[in-house]
Amino acid sequence: TRTAAAVDSKFLTSPWGEIQVGKETLTEYVFADLESWADKPSVTCGSTGRSYDYGMMRMMVERCANAFVGHLKMKPGERVGLILPNIPEFAVLIHGAMRAGLVVTFANPLYTADEVRRQFADCNVKAIATIEMFMPVANEVNKSLKDYKGTIWVGGEDDEKKGIYGLRSLLMADHKADLPTVSCDEVCLIPYSSGTTGLPKGVMLSHKNLVSNLKQVKCPKMMKNEGDKSNYEIVLTVPPFFHIYGFNGILNYNLSLGYHVVTMPKFTPDDYIKCLVEYKPTILFVVPSLLAFLATHPFVKKNHLESVETIMVGAAPTTDSMLEKFLLKCEKTKDEIKLLQGYGMTESSPVTLLTPYNYPYGKVGSVGQLVPSTQARVVSLTTGEMLGPHKSGELWLRGPQVMKGYWNNEAATKETVDSDGWLHTGDVAYYDEEHFFYIVDRTKELIKVKGNQVSPTELESIIMELPEVADVAVVGVPHSLAGEVPKAFVVLKPNHKLTEKAVYDAVANKLIKYKHLEGGVQFLDAIPRNVAGKILRNELKVLGNRKH
Ligand code: AMP
Repeated sequence: TRTAAAVDSKFLTSPWGEIQVGKETLTEYVFADLESWADKPSVTCGSTGRSYDYGMMRMMVERCANAFVGHLKMKPGERVGLILPNIPEFAVLIHGAMRAGLVVTFANPLYTADEVRRQFADCNVKAIATIEMFMPVANEVNKSLKDYKGTIWVGGEDDEKKGIYGLRSLLMADHKADLPTVSCDEVCLIPYSSGTTGLPKGVMLSHKNLVSNLKQVKCPKMMKNEGDKSNYEIVLTVPPFFHIYGFNGILNYNLSLGYHVVTMPKFTPDDYIKCLVEYKPTILFVVPSLLAFLATHPFVKKNHLESVETIMVGAAPTTDSMLEKFLLKCEKTKDEIKLLQGYGMTESSPVTLLTPYNYPYGKVGSVGQLVPSTQARVVSLTTGEMLGPHKSGELWLRGPQVMKGYWNNEAATKETVDSDGWLHTGDVAYYDEEHFFYIVDRTKELIKVKGNQVSPTELESIIMELPEVADVAVVGVPHSLAGEVPKAFVVLKPNHKLTEKAVYDAVANKLIKYKHLEGGVQFLDAIPRNVAGKILRNELKVLGNRKH
């Protein structure tokens, strides 16, 4: 049953009612029903087969918390930085830290030392957890961290003189400590997001924000089987746990339901197909570029997808035609395989819009309806008034999942969350008569490459360091597989010369691969700006599309 949402003159409310915002911490909530599935597998590494059942996972979380407090001497509220790919121990470390009253921040493990340092120094990280491959980055970064207490090496041995602790020995030693009482109002996660403008900022999320969002997404009426606890699913997922969609929307969501989460530290077509065959997943969590891989890659065959009943697509826009191509590949109808979309932001823990399990035909490209306890306004970009159906404007959202604010950045917080609690998303959307939403554009600068955030400001500041450059602007241009890719427009100082490659290399030498200028470099006489000096990015996008 799909009721049209309630409307008043100022905002829309969720058609799916309200959740009970509780007092649990995230770790308490995720493992609340543990007894029902203690001997079932929790997270399995699809590359190595390493796996822990729920009972073991919970015990490791508790021991990890004790080690943080008893051995590393971490104090409540201090920050732990994770440089980890998707491995089962990710859940142990993050919930161990949260159980100990600590605050976690996570970085893409393929970030350069510069990128990790910027983030970890910004929120004053006191301990890092990583694997062997990224120890050099951890060692490089921790030199510039104040009062650093040690590095936890997953899969490695102790070297206490160097401040290195093997995770296994920390857990085996069973350090006993007085764990603090943690309140649900405390911040427990600081992921980084550039928001509507500028450099990446720490997003302060509390236990209450994250738990609320799990409850909202698990709304029985929106879900399969109306929330039946005996329902069991096998989940194959590659979106990173170091992004809010992978962490809360996938890892915590599935763990709280007792599902079997199969993941892999590095995506390769072979490993992914091997996991499809070996684990026979019933749900796939994907980003649009992975959906494109499944729909179009010749290695992926119809029989590989036979067990799949549900596909959840999130983190970036996908197209109707890609969804159709996927259905053609698996030779299934929309009734046999559910293609669900979610829309969210790091700043909203992340989910605000979700397609209900039994959504009607003709809504394929929609990102769904408001999840429970969530309100929306679609605001005219010119007049600022609330718009009716089928009219596009900026999407504003309000609910218990909206962040507490940006870390150490009052000005950016005020710009993004107004005094009435509305999160100004910087996305352009419209809704139809049944209050299904469609995302059509973005007013914010953010570029999304394969679901990853790229801040134009970050690239622009690197290019500006080149002595030949007088002015620069970076925008996203469309790309068939990645969604969009960054392109730079550069103005040179008079009588100076620079090649496109030199600009490309300046960025490539400092930043992770997905931020590289794959959209190209174009030299201009002037960057179009308004009277206030603000870059007219839309004009550049038009120019970029033409030349690309
Ligand atoms: P992040 O904080 O990295 O999750 O990025 C949030 C942004 O990603 C949103 O503000 C949108 O611009 C974009 N986004 C996320 N999900 C979707 C979706 N389903 N469709 C279109 N854009 C999306």
